[in-house]
Amino acid sequence: MTDAVTNSSQPGVRKRQNALRTTVIQRTFHPASPPGQVDQRQRGVSRDAVLSWLQAYAAAVALNRDLLTALDAAIGDADHGITLDRGWQAALSRLPALADKDIGTILKVTGMTLVATVGGASGPLYGTLFLQMGASAASKLELTLTDWTRALEAGVSGVVRRGKAAPGDKTMVDALQPAIDALAGAATANAGLAEALRWSQQAAQQGMLATIPLQARKGRASYLGERSAGHQDPGATSSYLLLKTAADTWAGG
Ligand code: ADP
Ligand code: MG
Repeated sequence: MTDAVTNSSQPGVRKRQNALRTTVIQRTFHPASPPGQVDQRQRGVSRDAVLSWLQAYAAAVALNRDLLTALDAAIGDADHGITLDRGWQAALSRLPALADKDIGTILKVTGMTLVATVGGASGPLYGTLFLQMGASAASKLELTLTDWTRALEAGVSGVVRRGKAAPGDKTMVDALQPAIDALAGAATANAGLAEALRWSQQAAQQGMLATIPLQARKGRASYLGERSAGHQDPGATSSYLLLKTAADTWAGG
């Protein structure tokens, strides 16, 4: 499994590939855990680890800003990386004041910041994702695998209610829904948290790449009709990065 956020066989993408990667900001994790990992025996994802994930995602968006914008230039209006980066820099600036709040509050404030700063279609959708995840994680100081799965489910349900996209419509849902399915499958298989997170990352990556041949049925890209086929969806790509940074931060590199 590679870290690639695009299929290198796509025209014009190969050259940019080397420059595109995500970073993870290492922070202090649960004291009982080895650095960069959560304790698999009993602990879930700590509040500090959630803050680390949000930082890592903001860094990944900044690093992949030009890629996300280039993907949006092909089938949209060339703003996805720019607006998402602006929103995440704003969200990042609010994190220090949230360090002693519960995980639900941290995610909700992040969602409100995204709604207020990102704009376009993806601002309200990512805002909803985080607001609903926050509601699901209300008053929690730690997330078990079940908590994380429920939070993501609640977030994606909110995205679907708001955007009315079904899997296969070539949107962010095509990366997010497979990730939820993988988390649910991991729980059924009694997999540990780290393994579940990696499975969800891989499922999101497959979902992202599977948007390439699809014709867009939602959002700006749908205006292109058949011409939207052959391009990777920008929102599915930024959503894959969410799952990848979660796995990198919480399951170790
Ligand atoms: P805009 O299209 O307003 O410029 P962005 O460029 O920031 O917004 O985001 C585009 C992404 O938003 C698309 O690639 C797609 O993944 C996602 N998107 C657009 N419409 C919807 C929708 N109705 N439901 C889910 N996701 C959507
Ligand atoms: Mg756009």
